[in-house]
Amino acid sequence: MDKPRTCSFCNRDESKVGHLVMAESGVTICRECAMLCYQAFERERQARVAAAEKTKTKQKALFNLAKPAEIRAELDKYVVGQEHAKKVLSVAVYNHYKRLALESGNMDQSLYKEFSDVHVEKSNVLLIGPTGTGKTLLARTMAEQLKVPFAIADATTLTEAGYVGEDVENIVLRLLQAANYDIEKAQCGIIYVDEVDKIARKTENVSITRDVSGEGVQQALLKILEGTVCNVPPQGGRKHPQQEYIKVDTSNILFICVGAFVGLDRIIERRIGKNTLGFETAKASGVINPSEYIVKYVQPGDLARFGMIPEFIGRLPVISVLNELTLPELEHILCNTKNALLKQYGKLVAMEGATLTFEPQAITAIAQKAQEMKTGARALRSIVEALMLDVMYELPHDGSIEEVIITPEFVEGKAKANIVRK
Ligand code: ADP
Repeated sequence: MDKPRTCSFCNRDESKVGHLVMAESGVTICRECAMLCYQAFERERQARVAAAEKTKTKQKALFNLAKPAEIRAELDKYVVGQEHAKKVLSVAVYNHYKRLALESGNMDQSLYKEFSDVHVEKSNVLLIGPTGTGKTLLARTMAEQLKVPFAIADATTLTEAGYVGEDVENIVLRLLQAANYDIEKAQCGIIYVDEVDKIARKTENVSITRDVSGEGVQQALLKILEGTVCNVPPQGGRKHPQQEYIKVDTSNILFICVGAFVGLDRIIERRIGKNTLGFETAKASGVINPSEYIVKYVQPGDLARFGMIPEFIGRLPVISVLNELTLPELEHILCNTKNALLKQYGKLVAMEGATLTFEPQAITAIAQKAQEMKTGARALRSIVEALMLDVMYELPHDGSIEEVIITPEFVEGKAKANIVRK
């Protein structure tokens, strides 16, 4: 009589497990073991597919990086003029994210074998320009577009350790908060440090109004600009020994340092005035204006003379200068940008069932008034707010108004707004 057959896997008898499948080699398998094997193979296959998907998404994320021209096109929707700054920022940000992709292993490094020992360093940015010319707007628009955490800090609130004021780590805390305390996300974010010109060394700089022990703050900022693991107090404020800290590595955080640097043009002028052929003539004939001296001629030495310490300047290798806004640019800002002020008011008035019309000369008059105020596009809002106050006060109570026409005479204070009734 034949020996009862058993499953080669579970060793159970055919009478217990039912039909056995036999291979040519004589190995047998029961239904239950076959199912288990199938499930094991299936799990392994799914894991393999998931891993491949993950790599694909990573690669896709890289290919999805907005190219400089695309970043720039998005900036154009909101920011008028400032062509150089837009170009500089879009390239800086694109390179920054390419560098991150390299470091995170999202890129196939074997493609760049000959550069395997080359470490791409980050290039923080210094933006110089008068107030209200779009420095914050540029940085904010870019951060929104790239969907990365973005924080704005004010250099004048900082002090070096041991003085009254904020520690520099609080800058990083702001970014951490913007990233909902996701440390990994925060470590790839952008920090915009405003008013860095106000932390210039006092002795060499005549235009400073406030002293926040500038040099010490520059020293303190240096480290986080360059890249360090800093201890961030989760609740902010001053550090104290009993506190628990969150460790944040700043080496992949892009810093955009910003300042008006009032008086820098004079420093540059003094340096080059005598030496550059044609400079004096160009200046006298008004061919170049102060912001143009800065754009064309600024050198690290000028910033050092302004009161920035050389190491600090060295950490900001990309410099761009924003120009004073021209009359047509101010008009464009009023009417044509995505969130243009006049569109905003148009909407508010439409919600009351009326239309708002600005005569073209009225727009020019507003832009001219703004130019005189010397606060850039910032002045536009205060002018329009003041102009519209009475209209916005009356409109909700007066259902008979069909159209409000803003005339140049009204802007100049010589007449009332032109109201058309139903
Ligand atoms: P700053 O250069 O002082 O940082 P901001 O970017 O904060 O100036 O600008 C203040 C406001 O003026 C912005 O909210 C924006 O509405 C307007 N603005 C300034 N510059 C521009 C510009 N170039 N294009 C469009 N709007 C601008």
